[in-house]
Amino acid sequence: MKTPIANGNLFILAAPSGAGKSSLIRALLERHSHDSMQVSVSCTTRAPRPGEVNGEHYHFLTESQFKDKITNNEFYEWAHVFGNYYGTSRTYIEQTLAQGIDVFLDIDWQGARQVREAHPSAQSIFIVPPSLETLEQRLRARGQDSDEVICSRMAKAQAEMSHYHEFDYLLVNDKFEQTLAQLEHIVFAQRLKLGLQQVRHAAKLKDLLANGG
Ligand code: GDP
Ligand code: ADP
Ligand code: 5GP
Repeated sequence: MKTPIANGNLFILAAPSGAGKSSLIRALLERHSHDSMQVSVSCTTRAPRPGEVNGEHYHFLTESQFKDKITNNEFYEWAHVFGNYYGTSRTYIEQTLAQGIDVFLDIDWQGARQVREAHPSAQSIFIVPPSLETLEQRLRARGQDSDEVICSRMAKAQAEMSHYHEFDYLLVNDKFEQTLAQLEHIVFAQRLKLGLQQVRHAAKLKDLLANGG
């Protein structure tokens, strides 16, 4: 394995269910190499939706498997969301960042709080829909949840959104391509932050400043 010049950046994305986080992350990853950015596949005790593949969308676990992982400190963060457990693998995050790869976390606000504490340089992004009506339409159009699940997620949407001010960035996902471009700008800007550029260009900066001043 090649030793990276600098660690990867960690990006937290949160949003009410149906606001578009998974679609945005998927679209961004399609544009970029797997060696430059990846999304963390969470563990969950929720049942798979039609078409969801174990290990690709989530690692689907039983409650007792999940609780064993909590006991063994295998989660970077975990939370109880909509009656199910969700958690991020600690080893995956640590190993991937160490390879210089940027990592996206699609997690709820409770998880975002834990990650900020563990990793203060993480950049957190909150995504809201243009309106509550649009949010409900998107959940229905996705066609993956029952009426009952959609109603309960709509009821919880405002509770999730009430945490938007804890985040570094706020995106309104109206036009998909526009939001995608905004997300990409955040990632690219983060890669140009001074501390990282100093590490990447240490030799060049040394040359530029040699015998000068
Ligand atoms: P979605 O909201 O429609 O994508 O439905 P999901 O069942 O996939 O996710 C439900 C909620 O759990 C969303 O708010 C996710 O961001 C959150 N979630 C997913 N994975 C994790 C995780 O690893 N940790 C935490 N804390 N939350 C997660
Ligand atoms: P989340 O992961 O936040 O729950 P999804 O990415 O599954 O949300 O998006 C919910 C639905 O809304 C999907 O069917 C997706 O294709 C659609 N969607 C996402 N963003 C937009 C957008 N800007 N305009 C129209 N539809 C969108
Ligand atoms: P088991 O609990 O039997 O080891 O694994 C069950 C499922 O969880 C498998 O799909 C496996 O890939 C996944 N899994 C096991 N360990 C980890 C881990 O540390 N992180 C994540 N994200 N998934 C894991």
